[in-house]
Amino acid sequence: MAATGVVEPMKSNTGRKKARLLIRIPRMKETSKSATKSPRARTAFFMRYTVRHEKAVLPLVSFHGEKDPPMKILVIGAGVIGVATAWALQEAGHTVTLVDAREAPGRGASYANGAQISVSHPQPWSSPRAPLIALESLTREDGPFRWRPALDTAQWCWLTAFLRECLPSRHERNTRAIALLARHSLQVLRRWREALGLEYDVQTRGILHLFFTPRDWETGRRHEAELRELGIAARAISPAEAAEIEPALAPVAAKLCGALYAPEDESGDARRFCEEMVARLRQAGAEVLFETRWSGWRLGKGRCEAARFEGPAGAFELTAEAIVVCAGVDSPRLLAPLGMEAPIYPVKGYSLTAPILAPERAPTASLTDESKRIVCSRLGNRLRFAGTAEIAGYDDSVRPERIAPLKRWAEVMLPGVADLEAAEAWAGLRPMTPSGVPLIGRSPMANVWVNTGHGSLGWTLACGSAQALLARLEGKTPPGLEAFPFVG
Ligand SMILES: Cc1cc2nc3c(=O)[nH]c(=O)nc-3n(C[C@H](O)[C@H](O)[C@H](O)COP(=O)(O)OP(=O)(O)OC[C@H]3O[C@@H](n4cnc5c(N)ncnc54)[C@H](O)[C@@H]3O)c2cc1C
Repeated sequence: MAATGVVEPMKSNTGRKKARLLIRIPRMKETSKSATKSPRARTAFFMRYTVRHEKAVLPLVSFHGEKDPPMKILVIGAGVIGVATAWALQEAGHTVTLVDAREAPGRGASYANGAQISVSHPQPWSSPRAPLIALESLTREDGPFRWRPALDTAQWCWLTAFLRECLPSRHERNTRAIALLARHSLQVLRRWREALGLEYDVQTRGILHLFFTPRDWETGRRHEAELRELGIAARAISPAEAAEIEPALAPVAAKLCGALYAPEDESGDARRFCEEMVARLRQAGAEVLFETRWSGWRLGKGRCEAARFEGPAGAFELTAEAIVVCAGVDSPRLLAPLGMEAPIYPVKGYSLTAPILAPERAPTASLTDESKRIVCSRLGNRLRFAGTAEIAGYDDSVRPERIAPLKRWAEVMLPGVADLEAAEAWAGLRPMTPSGVPLIGRSPMANVWVNTGHGSLGWTLACGSAQALLARLEGKTPPGLEAFPFVG
């Protein structure tokens, strides 16, 4: 069968109206290294050779017979969002430079998070129940939520906006947007994992959401119906079934009211993922710079001419045709000079990572205690316990009294399974928007893009957000995400 083509109108990243010829060339009868040498050679190759199967490989070719020229793109921030974005761009043929202030990738909020790929929890924290949960929690020393009021207008503005997003209609709309992105993201993560052979202590035994009070279980049952409607696999199960799926739960099954099992969900170490992706980026020819801090912009008319950095060898500028800001909780500081007020505020969380002492009693399914709001994931020969939400500004120090509930939970739920004395305690700042929906799209500057504000679900949403950002940057609507509220 010969290659087939359709004409598709599109808008380029520069805003120019163009038409493209979409060539369908499934599998080449003949492969040739020369076909991948240059866009022109590739196009000629695609046009010349016949194809055998109708499996879509879809190079986009302009009327002039050339692929859109690859762009030089700068990505700022090498957490899960930045490395995923850099990879999506590099994979699409662009020339990528990834820059981070820290000494290695994944040293911000992505360092030791709960490790869950939790498609089955698309509900943002701003929910109709959130104000009550927060009030109840404030009266308990070990409550999952803590607020340290500060003389900080950003904090008060964010809290006010958060309360607005708790309205039922907004919560529902935000849940739908996150669900769309989460489902897409899992597919992209799986594709990359397989194609790149990524190793990051992945577990694919699903997530068990555990409910320990009748009131919480009522919410769990409602979530089951809601998830079904959103096309997310999760089923309500009895305590006995939960213990059957995850035998490590047997000793506490009697205390359970019920569980939701999401078999498609996964877990894995986000920091290791970041390191693996940086290795693949370097192999693919991307430039990656660490200990290099963004320090300002050189602005032109409606665009950013260059980004300024402080690196080990001093100050310098980088120019690029496009720039993507993935700087986590620091994103608002980078975006403010561009005229963009990013509604992102840090919500601090804690984790404890302990070596496993009794592997036969350690869970392999990831667990979410919905009553205490603590998660537990197995990462190879370690167990990670994570949780708590603290609004305390940009302080990321570890407070022992906030680690204590995680330790207690591990002692009660999985006694003697992990060496808690040898555990690594960590605190990180979730880059949270009031709605829980990340900011993906174009900034007020024509060539500056944002992919940030992923809050409590950045690891879950990283790969799909990266793919979505790539599509927007190339002037396309990511398939399946037509209803997502992109910015810009
Ligand atoms: C306790 C806890 C548990 C969590 N559990 C889960 C979970 O189970 N599942 C899930 O999906 N999500 C979870 N999350 C959320 C998830 O970890 C975050 O959403 C995600 O890590 C955010 O990634 P990011 O790349 O946007 O930010 P970061 O990982 O913080 O990366 C931002 C990067 O930008 C760099 N940067 C900042 N400023 C500059 C500058 N001026 N110049 C250069 N570089 C700069 C930083 O050095 C950093 O490396 C959890 C978070 C916490 C804190």
